[in-house]
Amino acid sequence: MAAIAASCAGARVVAIDGAKKIGAKILISGGGRCNVTNEVVRAEDFNGSRNAIAKVLRTFDVSSTVAFFEELGVKLKREETGKLFPISNRARDVVDALLRAAEGVEIVTGIRVESIESGFVINGSIHADRVILAAGGRSVPMTGSDGSGYTLARMLGHTVTPAFPALVPLVVEKGHWITELSGISVDAELAVKSPTGRVLQRHRGSMLFTHFGLSGPVVLDISRHWIANQPATLSANFLPGETFESVDAALIAAAKRNPHATIGSVVRLPDRLLARLTPETALGRLSKDDRRRLVRDLVDYTLPVVRDRGFEYAEVTAGGVPLSEIDVGTMESRICPNLYLCGEILDVDGRIGGFNFQWAWASGRLAGLSASGR
Ligand SMILES: Cc1cc2nc3c(=O)[nH]c(=O)nc-3n(C[C@H](O)[C@H](O)[C@H](O)COP(=O)(O)OP(=O)(O)OC[C@H]3O[C@@H](n4cnc5c(N)ncnc54)[C@H](O)[C@@H]3O)c2cc1C
Repeated sequence: MAAIAASCAGARVVAIDGAKKIGAKILISGGGRCNVTNEVVRAEDFNGSRNAIAKVLRTFDVSSTVAFFEELGVKLKREETGKLFPISNRARDVVDALLRAAEGVEIVTGIRVESIESGFVINGSIHADRVILAAGGRSVPMTGSDGSGYTLARMLGHTVTPAFPALVPLVVEKGHWITELSGISVDAELAVKSPTGRVLQRHRGSMLFTHFGLSGPVVLDISRHWIANQPATLSANFLPGETFESVDAALIAAAKRNPHATIGSVVRLPDRLLARLTPETALGRLSKDDRRRLVRDLVDYTLPVVRDRGFEYAEVTAGGVPLSEIDVGTMESRICPNLYLCGEILDVDGRIGGFNFQWAWASGRLAGLSASGR
């Protein structure tokens, strides 16, 4: 996007990518469909300096993204969740469209940038008046983003806040029953809690049980908060919107009406999950203590998470070059003149739903335009 914007504005642009295949991450994004953006994108959808993020997002909003891709022949459709995908459901179409738009850009693949000396000299031989660093973070390193962009940023005087996985599945204790429910998904509210029990973050959405632990949108969204707040715990309310009191009262009332009725007739959860939370099935056979234990597990179950699945499985990287070191009016470095940074290399990470690409499109375009002198 940066290369396209700079080239369209009249600059001579060479795009150097260490990967053999360009746009590898776009190709695997959104399950191969590429969730290009979201119908509503606000700074609140991101972690990072929100005022600075808002300023960048304003320069290229969702309607601009939709129009940009439509002009390149990729019409987007909105799904129920608000996510926008190509109507073809093919991420390949997004990469091809970007490559068509990059017609004036000299694209060099398979060459890793190992050094950038200020001035600028790249890999000791390529000279440039201006450099745009769009090397991504550390997520799914086999696509090319192995964190070497941070080394290059440091060479040019920048600091880098610690990078850690975000939008990443979570692994639970080996042999825990959660791993036996693989394939089941439930609507849940997850809360990250401090060791003193204070709720630090809450997210609601679909949670998927897997053979290693937990995934699904709500788990991915909350993962970075669980990681960033260690030694925090993660707990689930399997009945979002309900409280201990409301569920307890509902079970008592239902047992009075019909003690032979099943717990499942009051608590609407997949049978296999409910069976793991209580061996009892009839309402009338639950002792008071067992009922209260069940209710606590239903609304506040401490998930036995032991670790995240790492950068290999993370959709995005938290941390990076701080926005305070960037002039967000132009994306130029405040530390190294004529250096521009954009995309995931910066200390910005969005929630799931097309937000990370919108950040990449907007910051990339702004960096490209500014670097071209426009
Ligand atoms: C599995 C997966 C699915 C995703 N799905 C979505 C989605 O549907 N919607 C969404 O909004 N976001 C999604 N994301 C996140 C999104 O893909 C990224 O946030 C976005 O691609 C970041 O763009 P970028 O250009 O900053 O970095 P990247 O896309 O990571 O690109 C960085 C490029 O720099 C190159 N590079 C790195 N270091 C060097 C070097 N030293 N020398 C030369 N080249 C180098 C790499 O080869 C790479 O091509 C997904 C991510 C993953 C991993």
